[in-house]
Amino acid sequence: MTEKITIAIDGFSSTGKSTIAKLIAKKYNYVYVDTGAMYRAVSLYAKNNDFVNQNSIDKEGLIASLENITITFKFNEALGFAEVFLNDKNVEKEIRTLEVSQLVSKVAAISEVRKKLVAEQQEMGKNGGVVMDGRDIGTVVFPDADLKLFMTASADKRATRRYKELIDRGDKVLYEDILFNVQERDRIDSTREDSPLMKADDAIEFDNSDMGINEQFERICTLIDNKLA
Ligand code: C5P
Repeated sequence: MTEKITIAIDGFSSTGKSTIAKLIAKKYNYVYVDTGAMYRAVSLYAKNNDFVNQNSIDKEGLIASLENITITFKFNEALGFAEVFLNDKNVEKEIRTLEVSQLVSKVAAISEVRKKLVAEQQEMGKNGGVVMDGRDIGTVVFPDADLKLFMTASADKRATRRYKELIDRGDKVLYEDILFNVQERDRIDSTREDSPLMKADDAIEFDNSDMGINEQFERICTLIDNKLA
């Protein structure tokens, strides 16, 4: 029996990757790494340190400052997952604003940013027993992952989920802005030169537009159990 496997979950924005990944990590006692949170943390750093003006990013300045950015995860018992810290400050809530969402795909297209974060992700997952979600996990970070999933859903379903999440936590946002952001991020993520979002040849695709979380989770657990058997 294989000890602990590596599970890569990629896919479009707001397809419920992190919800599934957290459930898997809990059930199998694996480490969950939310790589989107890492790109969001770098984006927040760029915003807070004046590397962002209107819509343009001072790439050179941000790249020169990458060595000053330390991203860590700390497990929060009460929440049941690891929260993200930027230079020792808990930024779990701050990185999920629409403002950061509007910036993150541009920051994530910078090769130097990817190089740093991919190296850190590979280090975190080197011993297996990890479930990592993102855009390039099965293609770039862990091309040899034991199980690769690729999540999709209609843009409307995804925007509705994201809108509800933000409204539930008290953010004032418009549905149209969320829909635009989800589609715009997909466009930038899929067309960037470095590590574009795409399904790995050996990834299993899940369209969860009309699939509840329990059904997805059960199906995925069967796939994992088969790998472990
Ligand atoms: O997963 P989440 O939606 O929080 O990711 C935010 C953004 O971070 C994505 O839209 C994408 O631009 C970037 N990202 C990436 N590679 C990853 C994870 C996220 O480029 N592995």
